[in-house]
Amino acid sequence: MTKISFDDLKNKVCVITGGGGVIGKALAIGLGSAGVKTVLLDLNKEMADKVAAEVKTETGSESIGVEANVLQKESLESAKKFINDTFGKIDMLINGAGGNSPKATSAVEMMTEDLKSDLGKTFYGLDIAGFEFVFNLNFMGTILPTMVLSKDMLDGGGVVLNVSSMSAFRPLTKVPAYSAAKASINSITEWLSVHLAPVGIRVNAIAPGFFLTNQNRFLLTDEQTGELTSRGHKIINGTPMGRFGEVEELQGTVNYLMSDLSKFVTGIVIPVDGGFNAYSGV
Ligand code: NAD
Repeated sequence: MTKISFDDLKNKVCVITGGGGVIGKALAIGLGSAGVKTVLLDLNKEMADKVAAEVKTETGSESIGVEANVLQKESLESAKKFINDTFGKIDMLINGAGGNSPKATSAVEMMTEDLKSDLGKTFYGLDIAGFEFVFNLNFMGTILPTMVLSKDMLDGGGVVLNVSSMSAFRPLTKVPAYSAAKASINSITEWLSVHLAPVGIRVNAIAPGFFLTNQNRFLLTDEQTGELTSRGHKIINGTPMGRFGEVEELQGTVNYLMSDLSKFVTGIVIPVDGGFNAYSGV
């Protein structure tokens, strides 16, 4: 009988882009506790190093921070060289760098008659540079690291995991660039899973629901009082489990998708969302 375990993960090398962030840290701890050596690749080297030290202390597995920009191929190539010199071959990649920005966020949810004289608050007033920044960070920021960092996997297989969002299935109001980019993540996850299946590289994604983190705090809670905004209330009301998620609740799904327990699974996007995606609101 086959023994069910995460043992195959032991000593594998996993690069996590955006590894210095809130979700990156939780995933590194989840994988580290299964014996994975994690590389926290981030623009912010100080954060990546700090998180790597915490991952080591909490899990006993090796973890390092590496500075790189997911939007610059050369920077990813030098990071890869450093990773190969330090840990050897890269077995797994999590594309976690991403997020939204206030510059790509419309002030209002919907266009109304009276806003025709105040277009700045609508789609028409969105900052193009902000729009491009968010789209590229989430989309190209997944393509480029995959191009560079999954190459080792051509020899013997591997796993790529992308980080999508609830906004990929039905776009959330106010965040058009983020939503379009995350929808593209679902598409490229399927595309790459097909392209790379013959050489044993699996490509999947998780779509986290709502977790209070730095990038969405300004949309979901009031800066002064810490109380939920009306958008925050809407989200809780739209989540059958009635709460925000805890980032640790992503760990089980991710360890499953990275391990051989899911070795016949590729091209899927798993929502981890307290039921948000399944709920019509009625
Ligand atoms: P975070 O802001 O805590 O972490 C993101 C990390 O990415 C930061 O450490 C940042 O320095 C790094 N980063 C940004 N630009 C980079 C670049 N060009 N190159 C390298 N690193 C870069 O965000 P998070 O909440 O941990 O989000 C991680 C991922 O999860 C994102 O893709 C986000 O869209 C997605 N997500 C988050 C939520 C949520 O509720 N927080 C929900 C759904 C999806």
